[in-house]
Amino acid sequence: MTARAAVVAGGGLAGIAAACDLADAGWSVTVLEKKKRLGGMVSSFADPAGGGEVDNGEHIAVEACTELLGLFGRLGCLGKLKRQPRLRLPFVGPDGRVAELTESAWSFLTFPFLSLGDRWRVARTLRRIGKMKDAEIGPLDNFTAADWLEDQGQTPAAIARFWDCFIAPALNEPAARGSAALAARVLRDAMGVGPEKSRFCLFRVPLGEVFADAAAAYIAARGGTVRALASVERVAAAGGRVEVRLSGGETLSAEACVLALPHDDLAAVFPESAPPLEFSPILNAHLWYDRPVTPLEVFAMVDSRIHWVFNRTAIAGLTGPGQQLSCSISAAQDWAHRPSEEIAAECDVELKRRFRGEARLVRFVVSREPRATFSARPGTAPMRPGPRTRHAGIVLAGAWTDTGYPATMEGAVRSGRAAARAVVGS
Ligand SMILES: Cc1cc2nc3c(=O)[nH]c(=O)nc-3n(C[C@H](O)[C@H](O)[C@H](O)COP(=O)(O)OP(=O)(O)OC[C@H]3O[C@@H](n4cnc5c(N)ncnc54)[C@H](O)[C@@H]3O)c2cc1C
Repeated sequence: MTARAAVVAGGGLAGIAAACDLADAGWSVTVLEKKKRLGGMVSSFADPAGGGEVDNGEHIAVEACTELLGLFGRLGCLGKLKRQPRLRLPFVGPDGRVAELTESAWSFLTFPFLSLGDRWRVARTLRRIGKMKDAEIGPLDNFTAADWLEDQGQTPAAIARFWDCFIAPALNEPAARGSAALAARVLRDAMGVGPEKSRFCLFRVPLGEVFADAAAAYIAARGGTVRALASVERVAAAGGRVEVRLSGGETLSAEACVLALPHDDLAAVFPESAPPLEFSPILNAHLWYDRPVTPLEVFAMVDSRIHWVFNRTAIAGLTGPGQQLSCSISAAQDWAHRPSEEIAAECDVELKRRFRGEARLVRFVVSREPRATFSARPGTAPMRPGPRTRHAGIVLAGAWTDTGYPATMEGAVRSGRAAARAVVGS
């Protein structure tokens, strides 16, 4: 019997997850990706001055990302992750003081960046969040995370110095602008159910080298095809099949098509399902120093617009006289139009203020992703469709679809798997 044919448009994590599941289910899969490599937003680019690749932006997963880690396991790329054996979250204060949150309650009881009262209130609220049911979380989409946290007795200091260290990067919107439902979902699943789930998984290698080739090989080994530099122009249902027109004029016909495109690209390809979601930018300043600034591998910056700093040298297990630190700035609307020199200088000053020493900034690269994620504001839940459209053979995937999560790698994989289930069940 000939395998049924499915086209997957878009080779980000959502498209890859859908393609792998469909290939495993015996479908003949063709992935069409408009760029030259798979990976979508999880990507890196050539850095001629350093001779390697630089990430478009630092990515973190946590052990709670079970679908993402499951996909990496199937693709054989778990070895490219550096997984914390125990939770270690260093916070660095403006005066350089370092305090680590670990799996020991003592680390929280003595956490110096919150008042005693705030520590108690944060712990109580975290416990409550861990017990929240989906039915309680859904209606919170009408509120900002800050309003909801204030209702839980959280002070502005606790929101700024604790909650926003997690909410702003996860939602790519600060608590003051982000949806309380999306914040609650992420906090419950990543922090509210035991510290093992919160352990960080960092990428040892440039993002473009993590899973793109492994995914292409996985799909090819199951009889599928991955076509890079193949841009989908239009998709339409036609007589019980789906027609997929590429920008060169070629048309493919298949039983099913998974549209795993960013929502604005979907608007051109299949307008009837495109949501009116907005984007939120992420910006990363990659700084190279002539000598080590800090032994910390990854740390949060207290009272700073730089949310997390990644010690790429340590994470990659490199040695050498110098050190590469990458500063991640989420929800970077107010930084987007600033010149790179100014951004790098501000990051350098902030780091030097905290880690006094002789290290000299040798060079920098600022990477900007203006369309990094959809803007996870209140009221977005009804705009995010599930996988099914009104045509049985055309299904949707993408971190922006109705996953219950903000735009994350885990959400993207879940959406791709849901799309594959919708195709197989159609
Ligand atoms: C800088 C940055 C930092 C991030 N940090 C984190 C983090 O720490 N943790 C986390 O979990 N998430 C993070 N994210 C979010 C995460 O990367 C995304 O949510 C996820 O990768 C999106 O996957 P996707 O498959 O839904 O979409 P995408 O990755 O956008 O994939 C869509 C694909 O479709 C392709 N495409 C578009 N139009 C067409 C067309 N017409 N024809 C064919 N192909 C097309 C695109 O080229 C792309 O490859 C970050 C994102 C960025 C940008």
